[in-house]
Amino acid sequence: MRIANLSGRLSLISGERAVDVHEASHRRLPSDPQAVYERWDEFRAWAADADLGAGRPFAPADLGAPAPNPRQLLAIGLNYREHADEAGYTVPEGMPPVFTKFSSSITGPVTDVVLPEGGHTDWEVELVVVVGRPAHRVAEADAWSHVAGLTVGQDLSERVLQMSGPAPQFSLAKSYPGFSPMGPVLVTPDEFDDPDDLELTCSVNGEQVQRGSTSRLIFSVPALIAKLSQVLPLHPGDVVYTGTPAGVGLGRTPQRWLRPGDELVSSIRGIGELRQRLLAA
Ligand code: ZN
Repeated sequence: MRIANLSGRLSLISGERAVDVHEASHRRLPSDPQAVYERWDEFRAWAADADLGAGRPFAPADLGAPAPNPRQLLAIGLNYREHADEAGYTVPEGMPPVFTKFSSSITGPVTDVVLPEGGHTDWEVELVVVVGRPAHRVAEADAWSHVAGLTVGQDLSERVLQMSGPAPQFSLAKSYPGFSPMGPVLVTPDEFDDPDDLELTCSVNGEQVQRGSTSRLIFSVPALIAKLSQVLPLHPGDVVYTGTPAGVGLGRTPQRWLRPGDELVSSIRGIGELRQRLLAA
């Protein structure tokens, strides 16, 4: 199943067409895309049997984030070996670095993003997980059953602020307006041959700068759900950015940062792509 936030309304996507869930369920299910995760099992049961009809064509520009207002957004650092190497860190053991991207930075998949003045803004394509069932102290073997679905995320990062001061400012430097685009749709795990092996790529102005596979994650999606939920309860609709593969601008020689006019495209096979145009401050 592929679900989307279409002009702020929960929609089921079939090919090029969308079905409004609130209308199709005779107003039983919510129109708010964030609210559906609180009723995820009910929604899945309804969608499995629903007569969805033909749906309507839609414009990609009308898509919003599939989880636009999560109670918690957790993000994982250094979760691919080659990225930890290029960033100059040792590979984490036991628990990866965890930070947040504040929810005011969340947007849909196709946006313009203003580059912070005086900054060094970098790209990080990531697989993003949205939680479907409450998860507290879950075992890794059960973790996928707590996942509603997967989407594409871009963890835009301003490196000057990130590296300033006595301790890294991960959360703040990754939370400028528009720094957390997500979408274009949420895809349920059953749609994939292997949800633990998804190819992700990122390009700047058509030049591929990142290419990886989630099979290379140091902490896999179920391992992350298990580890995070040992510490805190994950709520339905919570979002987890799972980390970026190698190829970010920080790790290049010379280093490279996003510039006004650049177009950033982030994609995961089987889900879709994000498209950000960068603008001067
Ligand atoms: Zn990241």
